[in-house]
Amino acid sequence: MTSITLSGVNKSFGANFPVISGVDLKIDDGEFCVFLGPSGCGKSTLLRMVAGLETAYSGEIRIGDRVVDKVEPADREVAMVFQNYALYPHMSVYDNMAFGLRQAKTPKDEIDRRVREAARILQIEPLLDRMPKALSGGQRQRVAIGRAIVRQPKVFLFDEPLSNLDAALRVHMRSEIATLHRNFPAASMIYVTHDQTEAMALADKIVLLHAGKDMLKHGSIAQVGKPLDLYHRPRNLFVAGFLGSPTMNFIEASFAGQQADGARVALKSGEEIVVPVDGSTLAAGAAVTLGVRPEHLAPVAASGAALGAQTLTRRVSAVEHFGEYSFVYLDGGTPAPLIAKVAGDGGFKAGDSASFAAPADCCHLFDADGIALSH
Ligand code: ATP
Repeated sequence: MTSITLSGVNKSFGANFPVISGVDLKIDDGEFCVFLGPSGCGKSTLLRMVAGLETAYSGEIRIGDRVVDKVEPADREVAMVFQNYALYPHMSVYDNMAFGLRQAKTPKDEIDRRVREAARILQIEPLLDRMPKALSGGQRQRVAIGRAIVRQPKVFLFDEPLSNLDAALRVHMRSEIATLHRNFPAASMIYVTHDQTEAMALADKIVLLHAGKDMLKHGSIAQVGKPLDLYHRPRNLFVAGFLGSPTMNFIEASFAGQQADGARVALKSGEEIVVPVDGSTLAAGAAVTLGVRPEHLAPVAASGAALGAQTLTRRVSAVEHFGEYSFVYLDGGTPAPLIAKVAGDGGFKAGDSASFAAPADCCHLFDADGIALSH
């Protein structure tokens, strides 16, 4: 049993600063769960509570069947990997990896077997006699992971483990962490990051935490689900705006009536878009926000009367080329300029008038409270 269950968990630093608010969450046996959210939303605090490094919270945390609220960190059968590696600088790689096992009075030959096995998995056998200062960032992070592996924990906890690595190494180590998960299928893993790409690539389950001015929501769960569920079916504006790069386009609009194939939405620019959701709870003229991702705006060659329904026509204000794709910035968006992501160079230039289809299935609609209307 390596599941982790959090029930009604709250934590404050000082009386008026809730850091974690009412978190209920189940992480299943062997699941790879990513805590994702903007800086300061409480991801690390929540992780450290599972590790036993933060206390004085209300609610209950279980690992398997055991309530661990009063269990010392060393007795929780969890191993944590930190962003800054936290290696002992005066010990060799071998001794760093063996340290926890020696403390636990594990027999010497068993320590040797486990250290060499972890070193083999992580391909750091040639480095066992080196000191940490003679290692690259990626090698140090491997040693830190090795130190977690040798403890054979039920739960691996990763706190932004790749943040100190350069971009290329981060991608490489990300795939190594995915391999580690496959090598230890019974262990549950919680991984903290603010990087949505890491979250999308690694997670079985993403827990996206709120942050911001709204203290009632700060440190609460905005949405839990599989990565593509959050991407395709965001529950609210916060989730819709957090996942995706560039972020989803939001267009202020008003509800113009419900019809058989969905809610009709009138844009301030005069266009009408139908979104296949149930808007029957909305009053006529109610303020809504239309959401459509840059990659879902499809260039339309036609113009004037030949334009089909579901199209937006705007002046191109700028184009950014990235080779494989381009970002086309469009004037006249409210509240922000619209961005379309098009293949290749797209043939657009600033000053052009350009039309884009917003396919109904790719459109999202949010009410005045920012809650997504359901399909
Ligand atoms: P980041 O991605 O920037 O690391 P995070 O989501 O992991 O952020 P936490 O480190 O959990 O956020 O911090 C949540 C909030 O709690 C922050 O506002 C932080 O300043 C505050 N905080 C964290 N630890 C303490 C502490 N020991 N005392 C007071 N406030 C703290």
